[in-house]
Amino acid sequence: MSLLLKNGLGLLEGKLSPMSLLLQDGRIQGINLPIETADQVIDLHHAFVSSGLVDLHVHLREPGFTNKETILTGSKAAAHGGFTTIGAMANLNPAPDTPTRFLKQQQLNREAVVKIKQYAPVTQKRAGKLPVDFTALRQAGAFAFSDDGSGIADARVMYQAMQKLAKLGLPLCDHAQDMTLTAGGVLNAGPAAKKYAVPGVDKVSETSQIARNLVLAAATGVHYHVCHVSTKESIDLIRFAKSQGVHVTCEVTPHHLLLDETMIVGEATQYKMNPPLRSVQDRLACVAGLLDGTIDLIATDHAPHTAAEKKQSLSTAPNGIVGSETAFALLYTTFVKPGVWSLTQLIKWMSTAPQTLFQLNHVGQLHRGDPADIAVFDLKTATKIQASDFLSKGHNSPFIGQTVYGATVMTLVDGKLVYRRD
Ligand SMILES: [Zn+2]
Repeated sequence: MSLLLKNGLGLLEGKLSPMSLLLQDGRIQGINLPIETADQVIDLHHAFVSSGLVDLHVHLREPGFTNKETILTGSKAAAHGGFTTIGAMANLNPAPDTPTRFLKQQQLNREAVVKIKQYAPVTQKRAGKLPVDFTALRQAGAFAFSDDGSGIADARVMYQAMQKLAKLGLPLCDHAQDMTLTAGGVLNAGPAAKKYAVPGVDKVSETSQIARNLVLAAATGVHYHVCHVSTKESIDLIRFAKSQGVHVTCEVTPHHLLLDETMIVGEATQYKMNPPLRSVQDRLACVAGLLDGTIDLIATDHAPHTAAEKKQSLSTAPNGIVGSETAFALLYTTFVKPGVWSLTQLIKWMSTAPQTLFQLNHVGQLHRGDPADIAVFDLKTATKIQASDFLSKGHNSPFIGQTVYGATVMTLVDGKLVYRRD
């Protein structure tokens, strides 16, 4: 079965150039071949054709919290956003913390319409006390380890986990947060926390953990990846560690690039996430950190919740917003269209860098012979972000109602259409 995607525009040596792709049996057979026919032909009408996006930070909620999201709905939301591979976090019930549970999780993940890389937790039940069997979980298929949702308070647990993972050559992805310093915090300790009269989350809760963990990472040689950096000081620490040769990488979320605490308006629970939106200076430091190479990639931290949960008070509503379906369009509109970033940079941070740094071989490359994991975006037409278009069960987004460019036209995984705009 062959499929010709013709009349697209793709990035060739950093420039948007005419591109057609011939796909054969799920792989890329050729780029810009002089042919006009195939078993199936789709005219892209000059839309932007890219390697599929890769999101290393997604919460799919199944098993345990399927009122918020399922593997099917979460993966459909990812496909709607142009993602062809996603890293699924382990804060599930049960958490995939034994080989048996992990293999069961892998079975469940077959429901997905995109490729799932499954995280295993660092500690049993993600409780921060007893390490998992890293070797057995690696054998079961874990690509990385994370207790995301919680920080690991015990330095000895963290140090030993890093020693073990350094030997195994797998990354430790850290939700860097000292829970003794965040306890009860709702918004960043700043003007918004004051305005809404809720307890603040001091930025040292993040930076002090990163400082400690960078020291431990340097001593062990592990690949230490910091999830969702949110403060200028975190980025400064990581920049210094990189200059000293520490094997550290980090990610930033679209919302920490697009929003800060001064932008919280209307229903404030739609702006409540962990780590919280920080100051203007922190937001600008996130943008600068990407540009100077300190921040390696963008990941959404897609965190669906039900409407009822987000309707609670600001203090009791859960943390997190959905992100899969809006990430590319929001970042394209805000940063690429006005010329702050190039399209090549955005694709690097959302596709090439995550797959290279996490060695997700042959996922999402536009090279002959590679799997046909492809996303097509409409960069010309303005569209409005609407909850009714979301395929996620979660509608908890502060971006609903915004006008953006870069809506997804179609997404293909192994040459198969997994999303197509009506
Ligand atoms: Zn997290």
